[in-house]
Amino acid sequence: MMRRGILTVVSGFSGAGKGTMMKRLLEKYDSYALSVSATTRLPREGEQEGREYFFKTTEAFLEMIENEELVEYARYVDNFYGTPKAYVEQQLADGKDVILEIEIQGARKIKEKIPDAVLLFIAPPSMQELKRRLLGRGTETEEIIQARLERAQKESVGMEDYDYLIINDDLDVCVEDVHHIIRGEHRRTERN
Ligand code: 5GP
Repeated sequence: MMRRGILTVVSGFSGAGKGTMMKRLLEKYDSYALSVSATTRLPREGEQEGREYFFKTTEAFLEMIENEELVEYARYVDNFYGTPKAYVEQQLADGKDVILEIEIQGARKIKEKIPDAVLLFIAPPSMQELKRRLLGRGTETEEIIQARLERAQKESVGMEDYDYLIINDDLDVCVEDVHHIIRGEHRRTERN
């Protein structure tokens, strides 16, 4: 029988380097599938429908909630974000290790619903480094960056709900850390 994939949640402060880390992880290993979320926020420059997100109106998003098409959803700095159910279930059944890049409220909901899910928190080496990375990205206004930094401070309290904390100091090391944790989780669940 084909083994079922493991569901992994990756969270971390906006600007912690999660996006780059996951892109590298997916390029390097073909056992992973990245879930694409639905959101009501507007696309950033360079973002494509169906690649970074499925961009929805608030009305369409509320309809997805109503129809139970989302595994979880949350509000984050004035917008809704949610994980489409169908893709996640299909990929796990196909034996892929599915990764959700979601914030902390969503991570908690996933853990409640699916206790076997692995929760990883990616942190930057320091808050100064986080601010530097957010500014360097140049995609957000000063005001939004401030709101995101404040949110990050609040979220650091919730880190203790996570199974693993990974410091993203060196990208390649971080990618290998994540890969080894998930491989380890496969071995652990297969022993049970
Ligand atoms: P951004 O606007 O920077 O793309 O995302 C903002 C936050 O929303 C990030 O912390 C990201 O992880 C989170 N997020 C993205 N998709 C989802 C989702 O489907 N559900 C939840 N709960 N959070 C999400």
